[in-house]
Amino acid sequence: MKAPSMAWNLVHAQRRLFSSTARQLGTYGFIGLGQMGYQMAKNLQSKLPPTDSVRLYDINKVAMQQLSDEMRESQAGGATVCLAESASDAAKEADTVITVLPEPQHVKAVYAELISPGLPKRSRLYIDCSTIDPSSSREVAGSIASAGQGQFVDAPMSGGVVGAKAGTLTFMLGSPDALVPTIEPILLRMGKRVLHCGVQGTGLSAKLANNYLLAIENIATAEAMNLGMRWGLEPKTLANIINVSTGRCWPSEVNNPVKGVVETAPANRDYAGGFGISLMKKDLKLAIVAAAEARANLELGERAREVYEEAEKLEACKGRDFSVVYRYIGGKE
Ligand code: NAD
Repeated sequence: MKAPSMAWNLVHAQRRLFSSTARQLGTYGFIGLGQMGYQMAKNLQSKLPPTDSVRLYDINKVAMQQLSDEMRESQAGGATVCLAESASDAAKEADTVITVLPEPQHVKAVYAELISPGLPKRSRLYIDCSTIDPSSSREVAGSIASAGQGQFVDAPMSGGVVGAKAGTLTFMLGSPDALVPTIEPILLRMGKRVLHCGVQGTGLSAKLANNYLLAIENIATAEAMNLGMRWGLEPKTLANIINVSTGRCWPSEVNNPVKGVVETAPANRDYAGGFGISLMKKDLKLAIVAAAEARANLELGERAREVYEEAEKLEACKGRDFSVVYRYIGGKE
């Protein structure tokens, strides 16, 4: 994809400057108001000045209406809110469009609508925060560029629903260098950190590589804890040793799968909340697809995927935090 020119950035900057004397300063379209998008849109809108506008769209009309009511009733003020009739209606007047959608097919479908001939050509900035595979993301970026609709970047996030609500998400940004100064302040209204990973698509590569590692570490931690306990170790003693030794990782230290080890971990509330097992399974599947495309050998990927898939089928594990694999492998509870 062609890097945006200085002129492109200038147009955006000028549009903002010029319109500061006009009625509206920044115009945003926000598409996908689910668990993450709902909270992100709320933070974005509340941190924008009233001269800006946010046009909301989701196929779930109830979520759209509820969010706009909440925004309008909020004492926090913020940008003007409008409801869109469709994804293209959300995007047509926008300088910046943010999408937070579940899977590759949803992202492709929404952007296929956005490049349909009806949408006026404009140098929009499209920021996709969905977790999808990098090659689907590159395909969408290419179609936006060839349709003359602007620039598309990937900015998947970590921090979960709690981070989305608190505005503390971390974004992994795949974007041309020249666009970073424009994108960063937008994302920082919804999060606390933006990590620029490289060209378009690399935000997703970073996210999937990290989550691949996490998927394996989580299973290995469950197995190691179960193993040690069956050998007679106290779970807290074992975790304390691992956490000052070479086995230390996020699942052992923060999200330990054994009840009573880490007070704030989902294991202490019957694995409620946290990072859902279905999302872990989804990210792992995306990582496996992307690894095959890059001809990267994964020795453990398929087996890990089977573990999450099988675990999710059990009533006792379904819908729970992914550390529930400890229960799936028959860990002592
Ligand atoms: P979600 O399923 O709760 O929300 C997705 C929203 O998209 C829904 O409201 C749905 O109605 C809407 N949608 C689907 N198709 C649409 C279309 N064609 N047009 C408009 N709206 C449409 O998902 P989520 O939990 O908000 O996650 C969104 C993305 O963020 C996913 O890719 C997920 O992997 C990623 N993510 C989620 C979490 C998390 O903890 N939930 C954490 C990090 C990243």
